[in-house]
Amino acid sequence: MAKKLVIVGGDAAGMSAAAQARRAAPQLKVVVLEKSAFASYGACGIPYYIAGDIESHEDLLALNPEQIAARGIDVRCLHEVREIRPGARAVSGQTRDGQSFSESYDYLVLATGGAARRPAWSGLGLERVFTLRNLEDGIALRSFIEREKPRRAVIIGAGFIGLEMTEAFARRGIEVTLLNRSECILGDFDREFAAPVLETLRHCGVEVVLGADVQGIEGTAARATAVQSSSGLHAADLVLVATGLEPGTDLARAAGLALGSSGAIRVDERMRTDRPGLYAAGDCIEVKHVVSGEKVHAPLALTANRTGRIAGDNIAAAALGRNSEQRFRGTAGTAITKVFDYALAQTGLSPMAAKRAGFDAVVFEHRSRSRASYYPGSKPLWIRIAVERRTRRLLGAQMLGEEGVCGRIDALATALFARMSVDEVHHLDLAYAPPFGPVYDAIVHVCGKAALEL
Ligand code: FAD
Repeated sequence: MAKKLVIVGGDAAGMSAAAQARRAAPQLKVVVLEKSAFASYGACGIPYYIAGDIESHEDLLALNPEQIAARGIDVRCLHEVREIRPGARAVSGQTRDGQSFSESYDYLVLATGGAARRPAWSGLGLERVFTLRNLEDGIALRSFIEREKPRRAVIIGAGFIGLEMTEAFARRGIEVTLLNRSECILGDFDREFAAPVLETLRHCGVEVVLGADVQGIEGTAARATAVQSSSGLHAADLVLVATGLEPGTDLARAAGLALGSSGAIRVDERMRTDRPGLYAAGDCIEVKHVVSGEKVHAPLALTANRTGRIAGDNIAAAALGRNSEQRFRGTAGTAITKVFDYALAQTGLSPMAAKRAGFDAVVFEHRSRSRASYYPGSKPLWIRIAVERRTRRLLGAQMLGEEGVCGRIDALATALFARMSVDEVHHLDLAYAPPFGPVYDAIVHVCGKAALEL
């Protein structure tokens, strides 16, 4: 009889696992249980959908129901799994309209993602307070904006989502106040390094308050009206709480699966949990950091897609009685975001994270240009790297600029995976022509500087 794979969660990790398992073992029966109304969508596009750059939420669907069916995957939306029983190899739950269901399985993948962190503040349950985690959240937020036409928004948290949403709201003509508890944005980008972005935000009419400790959300008639923080009372008719992500571990925790030190589900390199036949992938797991070697929770899209695919491949191999060599090699936490004209990117350990991880890290920085200085249209490019003093190994990089950031941070991410020293990066043969960069590119230059001064 055909073996059955059940997947809990139908977005990046879950659908990657489903598609890869079916590709590698077409006889597998694959059932995906998804609690929301949508499967297989690009969550990363939600800020641009809310800004209005993307017309319809349907444009964010990676696969439509017909394409999913054509792949032989049985996706059941509005099916929330409430319990997993690894001993009995079964899951059970409830549909949104209250029907109970249960499914047995030979293999199970937990791809439950995560939930927006909700700090213990008063007023979080008021109307006009939003978090943004999935497409349903995005649709609710955009329709609220179109229906209620809010004038003033407070965004709490200057991480990737907080910054992207600041731009989205501002471009919709909403006055935005951005509150952040730390003095840094994007976690570890320090204030000096982020200064041009903060300047741009202010120039675009955004009030940015760093070091603002939120105490609660105030409201009248069940509707939010202001956010109270250590920096004062900020009036709002829309509040977005963007304070981070908790890994979705409720089902795993209740079933007694091992969690890691980060709080996310512990898996091996093949995405196996500590229970036979039970795998996990995506934002609900922790993975190895390629620089520190530590297990980290790194909720990013490529890692979610990739770990899902690896889980699917290994399950297909197990179902076919074969060995699979598919292993996850690690994350460098490489990420990039756009804030108005700027791109901010990071890979590996920030200077602060390197010190926290116990490295004797030295920081080097270089201000360069995105093109040869004489070539028209050249933009500033600012790069900062962390290097281990004794081994001269590159530990991480942060970059800020208006063009040419993505390719350069990717080159440095590649260097991190190859465990290269700054001397080796300095000697890389990189492409050059005046419209694309100076002859000594910013990354060659900053690593050369480190090689000389260390
Ligand atoms: P999710 O996408 O969270 O999917 C998990 C699914 O599981 C959800 O659909 C959920 O409904 C379902 N589920 C949960 N519990 C149950 C249950 N009990 N029963 C049934 N179903 C369940 N990453 C980047 O790298 N670059 C970006 O630019 C970027 N931008 C982003 C912008 C936004 C607004 C957001 C929210 C995220 C962004 N990310 C970005 C992160 C990226 O989207 C995630 O890393 C990725 O979606 C994780 O995929 P996942 O499948 O692990 O989890």
